[in-house]
Amino acid sequence: ELKGNIRVFCRVRPLLKEEIANNGGLDIIPHISFLDEKSLEVIKNPNFDGSSISGLKARNNNYEFNFDRVFSPSSSQADVFEEMSQLVQSALDGYNVCVFAYGQTGSGKTYTMEGVYNDSDSEGMIPRTVSHIFETLDDFKEKGWNYTIEASFLEIYNESIRDLLASPKDVKNINYDIKFTDGKKQDTYVTNLKVIPVESASHIYSLLSIAQKHRAVAATNMNERSSRSHSVFQLRLKGRNEKTEEACEGNLNLVDLAGSERLKDSGSEGARLTETQSINSSLANLGNVIMALGQKQNYIPYRNSKLTQLLQNSLGGNSKTLMLVNVSPLDSSLNETLNSLRFATKVNQCHIGTAVKQIKK
Ligand code: ADP
Repeated sequence: ELKGNIRVFCRVRPLLKEEIANNGGLDIIPHISFLDEKSLEVIKNPNFDGSSISGLKARNNNYEFNFDRVFSPSSSQADVFEEMSQLVQSALDGYNVCVFAYGQTGSGKTYTMEGVYNDSDSEGMIPRTVSHIFETLDDFKEKGWNYTIEASFLEIYNESIRDLLASPKDVKNINYDIKFTDGKKQDTYVTNLKVIPVESASHIYSLLSIAQKHRAVAATNMNERSSRSHSVFQLRLKGRNEKTEEACEGNLNLVDLAGSERLKDSGSEGARLTETQSINSSLANLGNVIMALGQKQNYIPYRNSKLTQLLQNSLGGNSKTLMLVNVSPLDSSLNETLNSLRFATKVNQCHIGTAVKQIKK
C-alpha cells in the first residue's frame, strides 16, 4: 500500500442508443482509446470519419491519463463494484470510507451510484454495497462479531442540507446542522436527520425509492436540481465482539456529487447566481481539502463547505477515499472530459497517508 489511502478510478459510460444513432450507428468513441486497465488516451483532434479507426493509436498531440483503474464502456456495474468491495470491507473493519462520483452532468454518476433498481445487472454501488455487507455478516458472526447498520441519506443544495428520507411536508422549519459527537471518537452528525436501522439488503431499495420520491416532490425541475446538488448516502457500521469484547465503528459515505461542468455567472442573478457560485466553490473546495491533506498542510479548509464539513472525519486521518471519475463519451463533451481527467489526475497525485485499523477495547 505505497500509495496511501486514496484511489482514483475513471469510468467512461457507453454511448446511449440515440447517441449511437447520431454517430452513424457506430458505438465506438472516436476521441478516447483505452490503452490498458489503468490508462486511457484522449485524442486531441479526432477529425473522425469512421475510416481512420486504426489511426487512432498515434501518440502525437494526445493526452495520456493514468489512474488506479480505468473502466471502458463495456465494463459492468459488477466490474466496478469488484474493485471497490475492499473498501466496504474496510468500513466493516472500522475505517471511515468515502466514495465520490465526480463528473459532468450526464456522465453516469447516478447510474454508477444507484443504477437501475430491480435489475440485478444494472444495480449500482449503493445497493451492491448493502448486499455485500449482509452477505459478509455471517462470516463475521462466526468469529463472534455482531453488527448494527444504520443508514441516512441527505442532499446538499445551495449549501443547505435536506433529509431525503424525510417527507418534504415534515421538514419545514427543521434545522439541519452539522455537529460533532462528544467522546473520544469525534464524529460529525447532522441534527434532526433520520438515521434508519437497516435490517436487510432489500430494505435499502425501499429507502432509495422513498428518497427518489421526496426529491421529485421538492424539485420543480428534478433533473436540474439533482445535477446541482450533492447527495450523500451514509452507512454507520457498529461492530461488537461478544467473545473478545472488542468494538469498532466505521462509516461508509457514498456521494453523488453535483455536476462538475463549469457554470458561468454571466447572465445569472439572484438565487441562480448564488446557486452557481455555491456549486463551483463546493466542488473546488473538495479538491482543495484533498490536496491540502495530500500536502500535509496544517490548515485543512473543511469548514469552507458543508460537504467537507460533514465528511471531515472521513477525509484524511483514519480513512480511505475513492474518487470515481465519470466521463461522457460524447465528442461535444471533450472539454469537460479533459477538465474531469485533469481534476482526477491532481487527486491521484495526493498521498493522504495510510489508514490504520482501529479496534477499541
Ligand atoms: P449523471 O448522474 O452524471 O448526470 P446519469 O447517471 O444520469 O448521469 O447518466 C446519464 C445517462 O446515461 C442515463 O440515461 C444513464 O442511464 C446512462 N448511463 C450512464 N452510465 C451508463 C452505463 N455504464 N451503462 C448504461 N447506461 C449508462
